[in-house]
Amino acid sequence: MSYDYDLFVIGAGSGGVRAARMSASYGAKVAIAEEYRVGGTCVIRGCVPKKLFVYASHFAEEFEQAAGFGWQVGASHFDWPTLIANKDAEIDRLNGIYIRNLEASGVEILNGRAVLKDPHTVLLDGREISAKYILVAVGATPFMPQIDGIEHAISSNEAFHIEALPRDIMVVGGGYIAVEFAGIFNGLGVNTTLVYRGEEILRGFDNEVRTHLHAEMLKKGVHIKTESDIGAITPQADGYQVTFTDGAQQTTGLVMYATGRVPKTQELGLAAAGVETGQRGEILVDARSKTNIDSIYAVGDVTERAQLTPVAIREGAAFAETVFNNNPQQVDHSLIPTAVFSQPPIGTIGMGEEEAQAAGLDFDVYATNFRAMKNTLSGSEEKTLMKLLVEKASDKIIGLHIVGPDSGEMIQAFGVAVTMGATKAQFDATIAVHPTAAEELVTFKQPR
Ligand code: NDP
Repeated sequence: MSYDYDLFVIGAGSGGVRAARMSASYGAKVAIAEEYRVGGTCVIRGCVPKKLFVYASHFAEEFEQAAGFGWQVGASHFDWPTLIANKDAEIDRLNGIYIRNLEASGVEILNGRAVLKDPHTVLLDGREISAKYILVAVGATPFMPQIDGIEHAISSNEAFHIEALPRDIMVVGGGYIAVEFAGIFNGLGVNTTLVYRGEEILRGFDNEVRTHLHAEMLKKGVHIKTESDIGAITPQADGYQVTFTDGAQQTTGLVMYATGRVPKTQELGLAAAGVETGQRGEILVDARSKTNIDSIYAVGDVTERAQLTPVAIREGAAFAETVFNNNPQQVDHSLIPTAVFSQPPIGTIGMGEEEAQAAGLDFDVYATNFRAMKNTLSGSEEKTLMKLLVEKASDKIIGLHIVGPDSGEMIQAFGVAVTMGATKAQFDATIAVHPTAAEELVTFKQPR
């Protein structure tokens, strides 16, 4: 049987684009459908513009700290529209590069919304297109709890386009996006309150990392309300009145929800094609990203394995290798280095202390909490946390956690060593780079 394409990819985000380009490079005839903008969440309204905002939000602190190094910085003023315009120009540039790269790889880009019709057919705005394989890479979308007045709240999607910064903001959630945006708004001078329903932010991370970041965020002026949940949001002449579930009320200029992201599988035709989904709507796949239907695969956030761009890219690449290069591959999701671009940022790989305990492992903890060299003159009270978990029997590093400046950069490098199965003895044998903060990780002497 002949098909219009060898591969039809739905969704031109990180995973879909990588899979499409690699598959085309192996000789497949590929089309990719996108209903919004090529590049996906990460490039258009996620990682990339977020990181630009993080850079923007650091300057106030830097100007303040410059005095200790002899610099007198004149009166400074922040202009939000300038940042938005420059950010938009950069996103347009990246969007153009993504489009050109796809075209150069021979992938046909189809603008429009594609839905599945059957195991080999998609409908693109009503037009039937057939393909030997279909890859679903449509990503996820912000989850907004259905409370009274939720329509007045924004999500991260809108945060990249608000017209003017509010005088104050409430950011709801205690995960990656909430702590990152709380840091951004606070750094840009917005009176920021983080509202989290649990006991401590960043559930799932090492507890010491969580409490350390919490304390540092407070030092920088972020208000954090834990064990707190919003029941209703009511518009007022100048902002919103927020009513908490315990009855307390507070006014704010804007409410942003960062309460997780859910797979974007509604009205995608999955049932028509017979594709099985899980409880949160995620597409269920095997280790090679294949769904229960042999011709349909899925990668990235829509599968809810790990909602991270580099993971989606890996899954997309493994799919292309497996299906179009006769080189079956699967992605190892067990050890993923990751960074939270909070202020200060977190870099982490492997298990947290509580997770290692729960797994019944016998391990040593090496940890240090110190003032980074820059802060001897900057006047900042910020502390850096570094922590190593070492399994006693094997001497292997099973967890490495950093809260402090540049920890995203550090964890990428240390991630190589930990992924290779590095031992504490190998860390000890590594000559320190002085003076750096990272040298602490290769100079630990005594466990706790
Ligand atoms: P997360 O899953 O990280 O966090 C969601 C937060 O919202 C949790 O604190 C959760 O609380 C809370 N929450 C969930 N439901 C409700 C509710 N009904 N009412 C109140 N609070 C609620 O999701 P994010 O939205 O922060 O980010 C989505 C994903 O995107 C992340 O998991 C991450 O994988 C990825 N991401 C990665 C980044 C990076 O690599 N730097 C940056 C941004 C996003 P609880 O803990 O109690 O469940």
